[in-house]
Amino acid sequence: MRILQVASEVHPYSKTGGLADMVGALSRALARKGHSVDVVTPAYRGVAGRFSGIRPADWRFGLWLGSEWMTGELLRHDVEPGLTVWFLDYPRFFDRVGIYNENQVDYPDNAARFALLGKVALLLARYLEPTPAVVHCHDWQAGLVPLFIHHARVVEGWGSAPSTLFTIHNLAYQGWFPAPQWGLTNLPLSWFHRDSAESHGQFNFLKAGLKLADALSTVSPRYSREICTPEFGCGLEIELLRREYELTGILNGVDYEEWNTTSNPALPFPYSAGALEGKASNKEALQRELGLPLEPDLPLFANISRLTGQKGMDIQLAALRQLLSEGARFQFILLGSGDPVLETAYKEWAQQNKKRVAVRLGFDSGLAQRIEAGADFYLMPSRFEPCGLNQLYSLRYGTIPIVRATGGLDDSVVDVRENPDAATGIKFDEASGAALAHAIRKALAVFSEPSLLAQFRRNAMHADFSWERQASEYVSLYEHLLHET
Ligand code: ADP
Repeated sequence: MRILQVASEVHPYSKTGGLADMVGALSRALARKGHSVDVVTPAYRGVAGRFSGIRPADWRFGLWLGSEWMTGELLRHDVEPGLTVWFLDYPRFFDRVGIYNENQVDYPDNAARFALLGKVALLLARYLEPTPAVVHCHDWQAGLVPLFIHHARVVEGWGSAPSTLFTIHNLAYQGWFPAPQWGLTNLPLSWFHRDSAESHGQFNFLKAGLKLADALSTVSPRYSREICTPEFGCGLEIELLRREYELTGILNGVDYEEWNTTSNPALPFPYSAGALEGKASNKEALQRELGLPLEPDLPLFANISRLTGQKGMDIQLAALRQLLSEGARFQFILLGSGDPVLETAYKEWAQQNKKRVAVRLGFDSGLAQRIEAGADFYLMPSRFEPCGLNQLYSLRYGTIPIVRATGGLDDSVVDVRENPDAATGIKFDEASGAALAHAIRKALAVFSEPSLLAQFRRNAMHADFSWERQASEYVSLYEHLLHET
């Protein structure tokens, strides 16, 4: 089957979060199952210089974006048999410092940037021979693609138009813009209504995907149920409930070629479930790297994350402060960036507790790997979590996840209360510092019992979240779509 993926970030070319990991790994897994996969994504700053295989595609486009005639070209990277990544090369839009924003401020022309991505995706779907059977669109940045394909199908009579799947990776980001920006679509105003991209008088990219894709999915079963409720639906729960039967939750997988502990150039010391000495060496190396005292017997907690309310960063700070003030003995490492108020709060707290806490602000994929390998426990106190990837990486790295029981965190971690023999982590329910502190106290108890800690690690490291398996679920969904549309 030929599948075209449309996404604003794709690992290893660009990444701000889990979307990139998912699109990169799913595409490769599908190609390895024998499918023909194309991915279209912007050519952000410097990408062509970093990958020697990227070359001009000999394919130029010309199209109207609102009142402006835009011309540009595509680059292509033939990654491996069955997998080609197409880059939308439009430097005025994409040769920038950030992907969506700079210094926490969104680019003012984001609607135009991602409307262009949607239009080019449509052109590519029409250009590719044979035509893709399915166009799989990810998040609001690709939300207009189902609208454009639907329009081409019903107005232009494109009989062989592909089926469309729209995957919501995070409903909290919807791509809201003032209504006049609808002009960027060059579709009639009569198409701007409640059953397409109009929402409360505004232009909402995600809603276009939600209303007009042939099927919908999210990145975990529990999140697919949660978003149909007012608590998690971000105002779209009624719309999602209407399409409940076309909405599937498929947990993300892990690229175990990249996230592995046995042959990983990013890790100083290899290790495995049967030979955990290397993990202790990674812990020591990490403590040294981050300037923490080399204390093998202190449990080391970590978190790598965007610093936002969603991720419960305030909850985490409250819990850890409380525990330190009670005299609990542990170390903690944070790698992340985001909300300046949270950045300052963590920095100041680390300054006051230099022997216990290390905070690194920024984005550093190598350090992220070393933290996963060196830490004993991984904290994820998210208020909501569509899937979450770091708990999956932590499992494979024998770094016990402590997670709030929400979304994909609940789907992927087994708590002692659920199954004492198969427990892989610790879950808590309430989004509060007190509840997280309680869970961390349990972790401290586990750490003090080596045989129990070893059992958690063994269970965690043997859990299988390979893309091999998860990609098959997408294939079933694509096949189902072909029969339905
Ligand atoms: P989200 O996509 O909501 O940010 P996920 O857990 O799904 O959260 O995915 C986050 C991904 O981004 C993971 O691969 C994580 O390791 C990575 N990541 C997040 N922040 C950083 C950072 N500061 N440095 C390196 N990698 C990071």
